[in-house]
Amino acid sequence: MSLPDRARDELAALFPPERRRLDKAGTWPYAYDNSRREAAPDAVVFPLDLDEIVALVRWANAHRIPLTPRGLGSNTTGASVPVAGGVVVSLERLARIVEFRPQDRFLVAQAGVPNRRVQDIAATAGLLWPPDPTSAAYATVGGNLATHASGPHAARYGASRRYVLGLTAVSGEGAVLRTGTRTEKNAVGYDLTDLLVGSEGTLAIIVEATLALVPRPAARAVLRATYSDVARAVDAVLRLRALAHGPAVCELLDRASLGLVAPGLEPPVPAGSGALLLVDVEEDPRLLETVTALHEQALAGPGLLDLRRALDGAEREALWAARRALSPALRRLASGKINEDVAVPLSRLPELVAFLEDLAASTGLRIVSFGHVANGNLHVNILHDEADPGERARAEETARLLFDRVLTLEGTLSGEHGVGLAKAPFVPWQIDAPTRAAMAALKAALDPAGILNPGKILGAPAAPRPA
Ligand SMILES: Cc1cc2nc3c(=O)[nH]c(=O)nc-3n(C[C@H](O)[C@H](O)[C@H](O)COP(=O)(O)OP(=O)(O)OC[C@H]3O[C@@H](n4cnc5c(N)ncnc54)[C@H](O)[C@@H]3O)c2cc1C
Repeated sequence: MSLPDRARDELAALFPPERRRLDKAGTWPYAYDNSRREAAPDAVVFPLDLDEIVALVRWANAHRIPLTPRGLGSNTTGASVPVAGGVVVSLERLARIVEFRPQDRFLVAQAGVPNRRVQDIAATAGLLWPPDPTSAAYATVGGNLATHASGPHAARYGASRRYVLGLTAVSGEGAVLRTGTRTEKNAVGYDLTDLLVGSEGTLAIIVEATLALVPRPAARAVLRATYSDVARAVDAVLRLRALAHGPAVCELLDRASLGLVAPGLEPPVPAGSGALLLVDVEEDPRLLETVTALHEQALAGPGLLDLRRALDGAEREALWAARRALSPALRRLASGKINEDVAVPLSRLPELVAFLEDLAASTGLRIVSFGHVANGNLHVNILHDEADPGERARAEETARLLFDRVLTLEGTLSGEHGVGLAKAPFVPWQIDAPTRAAMAALKAALDPAGILNPGKILGAPAAPRPA
């Protein structure tokens, strides 16, 4: 499909040549994202301000042309793949810090500012923007908010939604929405900020965001605890969560992930370890020793095999080596990997891990899980030979069984990566028809022509659910 001549001429009048791409060679790099899915757009544009985005959306409405907002394409679900063609709206050049008010603990950033830049600027005043996806260097504020992203620090702070005070965004009709305030408390009107966060570019294009910052603790200790099994490790996390000054970061490696990295670990983990916890304590330096000791007390309990503490940089890095070694180890192990990011209430996590162990045994597939355990968020990696269609199909079926079980455990299909294309057929498993209808009505109110990121989140035919 290509743009009709008139629409193409009008688009060319809206964006100068250096900020539009209309040829295949120029648009192709915007056909895919980190999901490895791809679909070529008809055009890519690089707006520089709000007015250009308003004009673009009005143009798209007039011609019924799909628009796919895009940050840096680091999402893993196909959320920024333009499956319906049309125009990719790349926000990467809308990358200005508009205002930084440390005393009021907020920073106003345009949508295309990379997360890392926000962190660097906030750090100059001893502050932190808590959403810290591992992709911080190549993911934007707009993309983070549109996917409701989070990272390791979600253990203490939770995800993006809590750290945005307000947005400037353009609806699917070209209306400028100014949501929220510059205050930490605001009790006026419907909360459109919360609605737009996590909407994956389907309700509005985020242009600017007022981000809430928190004080950055100056001192850090790392604890590494190994347990006989995941259930004992989760018991320890439940004890940690009862602390008033709880962990800043709390990561779990299950038996299979530990097995992959254990041979290279220094200090080594005891033989027979079935789970490992990595815990960051971040505090005011005057409290670090006391709070770290409280963490150690909480980590001690039935099933604990080994507990290490590191205070200086090199030692801390050595303890984190287990976690960092995982992704490269997975890449060496298999050509194919289905990586899901399910979450369940923490007390149900041992049931999920036991189910995965059974599933690995019954399917013969290697399943390796690790994740942000304090939030019950587990990254489940189903490894397979990509060149073997039978094994690939078995891995996909295994993912379906995983989703089904996660929902019976009161969980969610995605704790942080979102829906995109990958999980759209499974949304009806999690969200019932009346609730989906209410969501569809909101979509119709903000994007009546359905031009914003079509095919994402809602509307895909439901996948058959295992009997
Ligand atoms: C190595 C790696 C590590 C990662 N680690 C994490 C992690 O720890 N936690 C985590 O949550 N995610 C993680 N991710 C996933 C990814 O980085 C996040 O989803 C990120 O928020 C996407 O940002 P982006 O700028 O790349 O957005 P894109 O991928 O370009 O877009 C993502 C979605 O947001 C929409 N969108 C983008 N910008 C806007 C805008 N301005 N207005 C409206 N909609 C918009 C797009 O349409 C799309 O639906 C990781 C990815 C990689 C590759």
